[in-house]
Order: sequence, then structure tokens, then C-alpha cells
Amino acid sequence: MSFQPPKGVDDIHLPESGIWRRVLTAWEEWSERFGYPLIITPIFESTELFERGVGDTTDVVTKQMYTFEDKGGRSITLRPEGTAGVVRAFLDSGAQGAWKAAYSGPMFRYERPQKGRNRQFYQVGVEYLDVEAPMADIEVIELGYRYIEDVGVEELELRINSLGDATCRPVYLENLRQFFKDIEEDLCDDSVALIDRNPLRILDCKVCADVVGDAPSMTDFLCNECQAHYDAVKRGLDTVGIPFIEDKKLVRGLDYYTRTAFEYIGIGLDAAQNAVGGGGRYDGLAESIGGRRAPGVGFALGIDRIVLALGEQPGEPELDIYVVSETTPADALPLVSALRRGGLAVDFDASGRSVKAQFKSAAKSGAPTTVILHGQGQDVSVRIEDDRHEIPLQEVVNWLISHK
Ligand SMILES: [Zn+2]
Ligand SMILES: [Zn+2]
Repeated sequence: MSFQPPKGVDDIHLPESGIWRRVLTAWEEWSERFGYPLIITPIFESTELFERGVGDTTDVVTKQMYTFEDKGGRSITLRPEGTAGVVRAFLDSGAQGAWKAAYSGPMFRYERPQKGRNRQFYQVGVEYLDVEAPMADIEVIELGYRYIEDVGVEELELRINSLGDATCRPVYLENLRQFFKDIEEDLCDDSVALIDRNPLRILDCKVCADVVGDAPSMTDFLCNECQAHYDAVKRGLDTVGIPFIEDKKLVRGLDYYTRTAFEYIGIGLDAAQNAVGGGGRYDGLAESIGGRRAPGVGFALGIDRIVLALGEQPGEPELDIYVVSETTPADALPLVSALRRGGLAVDFDASGRSVKAQFKSAAKSGAPTTVILHGQGQDVSVRIEDDRHEIPLQEVVNWLISHK
């Protein structure tokens, strides 16, 4: 028996988990501010949902899914991403008209583990469905940007592109195929295999990065509607003051994107793992999983990457107060309970250790305030950093709450 997690997954402890808590709390606040209610979808879905929704030529579906048969003989897959499940839930709900949702939770991909890439990773994201207007793209992009900036990722860069739609993309893909056929001998085997099936994905190939530099760009082939949409998105980002870089090679790893695609890059991170998140518009996704037409736009952000980008910064202290009892833990219990009910984060020693040991725990806890209980009926000493106050027992709860 080994007491270690399987390859590719990690436990997250303090102090790192303190940063996680702060980052996830900020996510709840920001998604609420932009009007995205929480949705909770299953961690596993029918395998077919991802085959149809993510795309059966993608690496995610062909190489990385955790798929198994359940005891009823159904093919089940641990979700490798959040969008397909949320769109399925939207269709299942029968909702009509503009519909928003925010999600948060673990995703699973069988990948080669490395720093910032685990087989279980945590994403937060939003989907804005049944809205075709570029205003939705702008709102979604702004939410992600404000959130990542607020949690403290420095040197954040937004990259955007347009991937066209069913009208203009086929013409572009034909041009792209011809371009790759002409330089076929310079491409890696994986890329050669993609020329006919999905040439767009070759632009994403790290191995072929040098030879795809001169490939034609989707933005040179946009139809009038796609061009107008792209221009409106860029104007909107200017209006809300979000800087962006147009990146003609940005195609994202998943097949379902149409028109807008974007990525948030943490410049300070290693080049291979520097995308902290991204997303785009997916006007055909609902239909490709068997539903009605419901255009949408969304993003997913990698919390593991965001925490990595934040580096070794100390988390907020988790505790407000540590209570030291010079008598017994039972004497401290009423005070501790009253303070917790009053909204303060409080801890104390439950096992009746020596006063000296309790002070050690108080120091280790990082709580800025230590309360020393001398005994029933006596004044209570409150130490806030170097200041010491003597407060009557019956007043100490209100005093501490008002001094928070
Ligand atoms: Zn390649
Ligand atoms: Zn178009």
C-alpha cells in the first residue's frame, strides 16, 4: 500500500491551498458581478457527448480521455473540459433566449504530467448561450481579463483571433490544405495526417512551428458578417479599455470554435505552459451534440496555472484569532463558539496542552490576534501584535467583533 496519489495528480496543502481559496473566492465574486449564476454539472458524462462536442480528431478525444464502461455497460468519460456538459445541461433545461452560467471544478486528461499540467486539473469558466451578438464576446472576454488581473497575475496578455464560420472557413481551409501539401515534406507525421482531416490544428503544432509561419491566415478570408463581428469585438475591447494582441496563429485545441477565439497569457510563465486560459465562440456546438441551434461564447481558466503564475506569495492568514486557555479547553469553548458565530475565524487547542505549547500554535497559525483566557470570571487578555488589552469577560466578544 502506497500513501501517495497516482501519477499525474497532487494533493494541495497550505500555504498553496490558501492561495487556491483566495483565487476561488474571487472567482465567485467576479462571475456574480457579471451576472453569471453558478451551474453544477456532473463530473462524468456519456463518452459520446465529448466525441461529438469536443471533436473526434482532437488530441483531447483521441488520446487524453479517461473513458470506462460502468456496471450497466454504458461508456462513461470523466469530463476533459467544461463546455460540452454545460451546453448539454442548457439544452436539457429547455431554456430559451440569452442564458448564462458559471462553473468551477476538476477536469481530467491523460497527458504527460509536467509543471502546470496535471491529469486532474481545476477550471473555472463561463458560458453565454443563445446570443449571437458580439457584445456577448466582449463581456465574456472582459470578465476573464478582470478576474485574472484582480487575483494578481502580472504581465497578462490577451490574444485574439477570428476563426470564421461555415461560410468563410471552408474556403480558407482549402487554401490552407494546398499550402501544407506544398510543404508536406517539412511537416511532422502527426501534422501530415491532419492535412485532409483538420489542417487548422497544424497551426497549433509545436514541432512544426517554424515552417507554418507563412501559412495563410483566417483573417484574410473572413466573410462580411465575420469581419463585422470581429471588428465589433475589437471596438468593444477598446471601449472597456482592455489591451489585446491579434494573433493569426491562435486556433485553440478544440474543434468547436467559430469566429472569436482568445487566450490569456501569463508572460512570466514558461513558454510552453503560459496560457492561463482561453475560449471563444462556438455557434455550432449545440447542434453538433444533437440540439437546436444555440450560438454561444465562453472561456475556461486553469486555476493550477493561475496559482503557478502567482508564485510563492504568502496566502492571506486563514485565522483572525487564536484563543489560548490557561485553564481547560472546556472553559474556552463558549468564547470560541460566540466569536465564530460573530463572524470571526477562530481556532484553539482542543487537547488541553500546556500554555507554552498553545502559544506556539498561536504563533504558527498566523492569526494576528491572540486571546488569553485566564479563567472563568477573570478579565481576558487580548494581544493584537504588540498591543495588549485587558477586557472584562462579558464584553470581550463584542470588543473583538468591533475591532476586527
Ligand atoms: Zn507538426
Ligand atoms: Zn464568415
